[in-house]
Amino acid sequence: MAEGFNASYDIIVVGAGPAGSTAAREAARRGAKVLLIDRKQRIGLPVQCAELVSRWVFRHASLSPGSTIHPIETMITHLPGGATCEMKGPGYMLDRSLFDKELAASAVLAGAEISTGTKAIECSSEGVLIEGGGKKGWIQTKVIIGADGVHSTVAHLMEPSPLKTMVALQYEVVLFEPQSHVDVFFHPDYEGGYAWFFPKGRTANVGIGVLPCKTSKLPDLLNGFLNQLGRSGKPPRVEIVSKTSGSIPCEPRRQTVFENILLAGDAAGHAHPITGAGILNAVLAGQMAGKIAAEAIDGGDLQHLKTYEVEWREAFGKTLSYGASKRKILEENWNKPETDFESLIRKTWVGFKEYYKDRRKK
Ligand SMILES: Cc1cc2nc3c(=O)[nH]c(=O)nc-3n(C[C@H](O)[C@H](O)[C@H](O)COP(=O)(O)OP(=O)(O)OC[C@H]3O[C@@H](n4cnc5c(N)ncnc54)[C@H](O)[C@@H]3O)c2cc1C
Repeated sequence: MAEGFNASYDIIVVGAGPAGSTAAREAARRGAKVLLIDRKQRIGLPVQCAELVSRWVFRHASLSPGSTIHPIETMITHLPGGATCEMKGPGYMLDRSLFDKELAASAVLAGAEISTGTKAIECSSEGVLIEGGGKKGWIQTKVIIGADGVHSTVAHLMEPSPLKTMVALQYEVVLFEPQSHVDVFFHPDYEGGYAWFFPKGRTANVGIGVLPCKTSKLPDLLNGFLNQLGRSGKPPRVEIVSKTSGSIPCEPRRQTVFENILLAGDAAGHAHPITGAGILNAVLAGQMAGKIAAEAIDGGDLQHLKTYEVEWREAFGKTLSYGASKRKILEENWNKPETDFESLIRKTWVGFKEYYKDRRKK
């Protein structure tokens, strides 16, 4: 038994990102004895996110006004030939590190215990092997929620096949002129992905996401994109205040319930396969996982955990599968000489009405 922990818990949540903290909060609220662990010493840092979120997230997470930087009303999509398309997309630019910290705090206020600098190494039907502060030991638990992100240890122990991902590089640059909409740019060089310019007060998050096989090209692509923006005066000169990078899942896992283990958020592949947006779904999945885990404990029936798979698929599974089918079309046709690049993007990007056509037929 590792020192400093209670002997056993009802639920151990691995990962204190949006999915894990929400799961811990929901389970603790229902009276379960919950331990939330994260391998990071500082929750929310480093930020690996472009920080744009749909406003619906605040139906599921009550946070201080400080965690949002400013509202966003529209997204403008730019095609290489110069055509643009404006889409209403009410949302917020977040202070993601504060957002994550506040979610973790809300779990603790609901009754969960939290342990930072604590890494999950192995899971069993009896508990989780953890390592932290130079110590290692098994902690007993009835249920484990794996919310440990895109490179999830918990998911890997259950289902070793790797998750399909995109990779992204992002710079935070000084914003000389305020802007209230977000921009998205497509170019044949941004293979399988896109570039973004997301303003947030005095700075903007500027990044590019591509297929993992193009990772080494990202620094040149991003510098070229910033130069191109500079030529149009936005921003007039590039002053970088921080850099980040990371992977984003782009296909949901086939199975997310394994006996006493549930997977939620990026660990389950819950980000949108086309846009890469994963915060809202992580919060939604965390909410369902925490609630169902607490109900299973309360009823003394771990079979009830299977409900989770049904519930998240009903809530947003179809949207993810449809996105994954569009991603397949996108990747298969991107480099074909006969492909008309602009019509491919219109068919496969959420900002165009063509994206939704096949969905309506179904
Ligand atoms: C560059 C980039 C830009 C993005 N931009 C956006 C955006 O603008 N909008 C949006 O909606 N989404 C965006 N995303 C996706 C979004 O960040 C994720 O979908 C979201 O963070 C998923 O939340 P989560 O709780 O599932 O996982 P995470 O936020 O990744 O949290 C997982 C936590 O688990 C911890 N952990 C990992 N392994 C272990 C372990 N073994 N033991 C203990 N703890 C562990 C980690 O330290 C981490 O704190 C972006 C992603 C990237 C990489």
